[in-house]
Amino acid sequence: MASSAEANASAGENTHAPIPFIDLQAQRRRIADKIEAAVQRVIEHGAYIMGPEVAELEEKLAAFAGVRHAISCANGTDALLIPLMAKGIGPGDAVFLPAFTFTATAEVAALIGATPVFVDVDPVSFNMDPQSLAASIAETRKGSLRPAAVIPVDLFGQPADYPSINAIAEEQGLLVLEDAAQSFGARLGAARTCALAEVAATSFFPAKPLGCYGDGGALFTDDDALADLCRSIRQHGQGGHKYDIDRVGLNSRMDTLQAAILIEKLAIFDDEIERRQRIAERYDEGLRDIATTPVVAEGATSTWAQYTLQVADRDALAAALKAQGIPTAIYYPRTLSRQQAYRAFPKAPDGIPVAERLSQSVLSLPMHPYLDAELQARIVAAVRAAVAA
Ligand SMILES: *Cc1c(COP(=O)(O)O)cnc(C)c1O
Repeated sequence: MASSAEANASAGENTHAPIPFIDLQAQRRRIADKIEAAVQRVIEHGAYIMGPEVAELEEKLAAFAGVRHAISCANGTDALLIPLMAKGIGPGDAVFLPAFTFTATAEVAALIGATPVFVDVDPVSFNMDPQSLAASIAETRKGSLRPAAVIPVDLFGQPADYPSINAIAEEQGLLVLEDAAQSFGARLGAARTCALAEVAATSFFPAKPLGCYGDGGALFTDDDALADLCRSIRQHGQGGHKYDIDRVGLNSRMDTLQAAILIEKLAIFDDEIERRQRIAERYDEGLRDIATTPVVAEGATSTWAQYTLQVADRDALAAALKAQGIPTAIYYPRTLSRQQAYRAFPKAPDGIPVAERLSQSVLSLPMHPYLDAELQARIVAAVRAAVAA
């Protein structure tokens, strides 16, 4: 896909050839033989559910993240849901989460009967604002809900402010569940994401920084007892024996095939993270004088799940880019508080003005590890021309 677009562009025949927003095929070409061999091995050994690749992947994920336990599951949403179930969070409990995130972060709280409370975000990092969190907890304590948990999100690949959030949560006796669906592999100081809170969840949805060929997810914790509970819930609440059911659980295992694919992708993931960083730097250099480019906090890194600009007239910019075959995306066009499903749930006492403003001004550009310099230069030139127009 990318190669034919480049060939056309360099031949000068069609500089408007469409380019992909995320080019999954470029990665596939790089490791196609390894993935096909891994898939073939699983098909032949036949242990399609909880086969040996699942345990191997879990070991590798735990080592990568620097956490004692990595527990694979069916998707990133379940990876958030399972620890909330394990902690017995439910009706009467308030779960604090940013208003500017993907729906799954709020969905899991609502599904177990708890009340999501929408917290505002920081205008620079786009992540949960610790002051808005503290104010929301204080406000909630005046009512009948019990503050129980906080789910910070590492939006677009950058870790949230865990030192501040963990301190608030500890003082207030709240669980912290890191939503690292977009940030697997990023760092905060010496630690990787998924090691930044009591328990963490990530997603291997194909478009995430580390994606499989379908749905997949994993949760992470250093707490042995919590890990045992989560493993049980992942498998129907199973106890010591297959037909001992100790609690109500889920069927949320990761397919062996997906684990086998992820093992091959994890082997090149550090290299892909470096490529993403170089691409983000090239966008920064090309665009920072004409648009508000993303800022990564001191001491942190991003895995650049998205490269997101803030622009005054994003609709005009998106239309101008589309006319040149350059796709863009809006994550997220509405705060969760403005979604029909979540309208009735509470917000921070001072509201969510930053989240509201971002939802009107953000625009994400094509970003993946195999975006080559020529194609990227074409995108940068098109953004510059559109903003100047
Ligand atoms: C993708 C995503 C999820 C859910 O992951 P799935 O694997 O799609 O279920 C949760 N939270 C955030 C912030 C995400 O971006």
